[in-house]
Amino acid sequence: SEGEILGYLYSKGIKPDGVQTLDKDMVKMVCREYEVEVIEADPVKVEEMAKKKEIFDKEDLAKLQYRPPVITIMGHVDHGKTTLLDYIRKSRVAASEAGGITQGIGAYQVLVPVDGKSQACVFLDTPGHEAFGAMRARGARVTDIAIIVVAADDGIRPQTNEAIAHAKAAGVPIIIAINKIDKDGANPERVMQELSSVGLMPEDWGGDIPMVQISALKGKNIDDLLETIMLVAELQELKANPDRDAKGIVIEAGLDKKKGVMATFIVQNGTLRKGDVVVCGEAFGKVRALFDDSGKQVNDAGPSIPVQVIGLSGVPLAGDEFEVVGSIDIAREKAELRAELLRNERISAKAGDGKITLSSLA
Ligand code: GDP
Ligand code: MG
Repeated sequence: SEGEILGYLYSKGIKPDGVQTLDKDMVKMVCREYEVEVIEADPVKVEEMAKKKEIFDKEDLAKLQYRPPVITIMGHVDHGKTTLLDYIRKSRVAASEAGGITQGIGAYQVLVPVDGKSQACVFLDTPGHEAFGAMRARGARVTDIAIIVVAADDGIRPQTNEAIAHAKAAGVPIIIAINKIDKDGANPERVMQELSSVGLMPEDWGGDIPMVQISALKGKNIDDLLETIMLVAELQELKANPDRDAKGIVIEAGLDKKKGVMATFIVQNGTLRKGDVVVCGEAFGKVRALFDDSGKQVNDAGPSIPVQVIGLSGVPLAGDEFEVVGSIDIAREKAELRAELLRNERISAKAGDGKITLSSLA
């Protein structure tokens, strides 16, 4: 009965008002209690929903505000991803902060002048497809824009195609950076031709894919690239509600000898604060300290902002979701439930039936 379920929720420290929406983990908890099978939504469908901004609930809709875009750089090996990231970081971050970057946290913020004002954008610091692929496989979507780097003296290569496929599958807008235009053998026109033959028609030729010709090594036209990013971001109307408890995605995590478990989060909705209790994959804990991308302690982090967190019970995985919950007991219970689900997933994956049933756990 409804009363019974409400009673169960009360016993878990949740005070339901009868008309609210339960999150995924709570639904699983209730279903486990009543031995009801849970069939998880298809990640592709979830992605489609996220694309339509259905990650927000009613409470958010009235409070949505602009948030900075989150950008991933992909492309074939040696086409210049690291050089581009390094150039952007040096020219845009180190210059604005006296000490420069002390340690990488997996993502960083840069400020781009737009109409005379500085606007933030956030770069994921793990170029390559693994990070993107691993996150997508877990149903996480953190990237708003994909920059695909193609060397002007080499053209489309296998990992270029992979990158295009990843971005398309995730429904993420693509910007092409035609790199190494300073080189003798550079032929940007040929690259544009190759790209149009795989369905990416350059804006300059009447298509809808922005392509910027750059030299990451010399820093040529990087400002154009950043400007293009901000234009594409503007069209996407990226929004979030900073005025609620945070949820988001783990970008990277590891173990530090002195500080213990360190994880970098990107907040997708809400604001994460020091002292918040979070559950994060199979880990949980109270946020003891937050550090920004320059290693400075901060008290909070709003939407799109990467922040390093200490205080977790274990090392989460890249692509794990995190969320703030009301108490350490709820956090522990949710973390345990997720661990159990994952164990079961592995068992059923081995058994080959591929289906997760909560009833078989009871
Ligand atoms: P990644 O594998 O995509 O990260 O490629 P890297 O950034 O490591 O670059 C591979 C090589 O290309 C390095 O030797 C870079 O110095 C060189 N490179 C990158 N960008 C440029 C460029 O714009 N012009 C030239 N001439 N060389 C570049
Ligand atoms: Mg590299």
